[in-house]
Amino acid sequence: MDIFEAMRRRGHEQLIFNFDKATGLRAIIAIHDTTLGPALGGCRMWPYSSEDAAIEDALRLSEGMTYKSAAAGLDHGGGKAVIIGNPATDKTEALFRAFGRFLETLNGRFVSGEDMGTQGEDFVHAHRETHYLVGLPEAYGGSGDTGELTALGVMQAIRAGLRHKFGQDSLEGRRIVVQGLGKVGRRVVARAVGAGAEVLVADIDPQAVGTVTAEFGVEPLDPWSVDETACDVFAPCALGQVINPENVERLRCAIVAGSANNQLADESMGDRLRERQILYAPDFITNAGGLLQVADELEGFSPDRARHRVEGIYDFLLTLFRESDARGLATNRLALTLVEERLELYQSIHRIYTGSSSR
Ligand code: NAD
Repeated sequence: MDIFEAMRRRGHEQLIFNFDKATGLRAIIAIHDTTLGPALGGCRMWPYSSEDAAIEDALRLSEGMTYKSAAAGLDHGGGKAVIIGNPATDKTEALFRAFGRFLETLNGRFVSGEDMGTQGEDFVHAHRETHYLVGLPEAYGGSGDTGELTALGVMQAIRAGLRHKFGQDSLEGRRIVVQGLGKVGRRVVARAVGAGAEVLVADIDPQAVGTVTAEFGVEPLDPWSVDETACDVFAPCALGQVINPENVERLRCAIVAGSANNQLADESMGDRLRERQILYAPDFITNAGGLLQVADELEGFSPDRARHRVEGIYDFLLTLFRESDARGLATNRLALTLVEERLELYQSIHRIYTGSSSR
C-alpha cells in the first residue's frame, strides 16, 4: 500500500502505528482532520485479514468521523483507532493499558472510546493510563453505552425518511429490515417493534438472532440475502459497504437508514439510489447519536441535552431530504457539501486572532 498516497487522497493529517512487544498490541490511529478541533472517534478491534486492511479501515473510518462531527455541528475533528486482534479471545488488561499509554502520548489530539468489537468496560483499564477516553461505564464517570442514543438517532432518521417518502412518520404497519443485532441493531429492533412495525432481522451470529427473535417475536432472514428483501426501510446496523455495485440494482426498499459506518461502497452509489427513488439517509448523520453523547461528555455530561441533540437528527434530515429534491442532488453528496461549508465557515472565523493561547 502506498500510505502517503492513501493519506493524500483522503486528506489525512496523521497515521500512527503503535506496537507493544510485551502485550502484542498492534494498534493504528488515523487522524483525518483537526480543522474543527481535537479528533474524536472510537477504537475498533477486529481480526483484520492484513495490515493493509486495518490501515484502510482506519483511514476510511476516521474520514467519516470528520464528516460526522462537522454535520453534527460539533467542534471536533475526525479520528479512529483500530486494534488488530480477535475481540473474543485477545482482550487483556495489559493490552488495553498499553493502548491507553499510546493514546496519552497524543496529548488530546485524539480522544477515543468504544466501537465495533470493543465496549466501555474494555477501556476501564486503558483509563488508568490516559485522560483521553469517553464512553466509559457510568460507574467510572462516563456516559455509558452509546448504543441507546445511536439507536434513537437511527429511529429519528427512519421517521424522517417515512415522513418525506410517505407524508407521515408513523412506523405502524411498516416493514423494517434490521441487519446486525449488536449494541445498536437490537435496540432499533426494540424501538421499531414498540412503534408497531413489522420487523425482520439478520445477523451472522446465530446466538444474536436467537436472542432477538425470542425476545421480540420478530422473523429471522438469511443474512446473505437480507438486502434483497422487500421492505419500507432497510436499516444496515453491521458492517460498511452494504450498498455496492453488486446489490444496488437489487435493493427492494423505499428507504435506507441505519447505523453502520461507510454504507456506500463509493459516492456514486448514492446517485444510483436517488435514480432508483430509494431515499438514503446519509450514514454519518443517521448514526451521530453516539458521537453526540460522547462529545457532550467532554462538556460535562447532560443526558437531557445529549438526547435533545440526537432528536434533532429528525429535522436536520427532513431539511436535507427536501433540499436534495429541490437541487436534484443525491443526499450523500448534499451532506458532504454541508460539511465542506462548515469547515470553511470555521476556518474563516478562526482567522480572527483572539489573544488566547488555547485557539
Ligand atoms: P456490535 O459489534 O455491537 O454489533 C454488530 C453486529 O453485526 C454483530 O452482532 C455482528 O455479528 C453483526 N454482523 C457483522 N457482520 C454482519 C453481516 N455481514 N450481516 C449481518 N450481521 C453482521 O456493533 P454496534 O455497536 O451495534 O455497531 C453497529 C454498526 O453501527 C457499526 O458499523 C458501527 O461502526 C456503527 N456505529 C455504532 C455506534 C455505537 O454507538 N455503537 C455509533 C455509530 C456507528
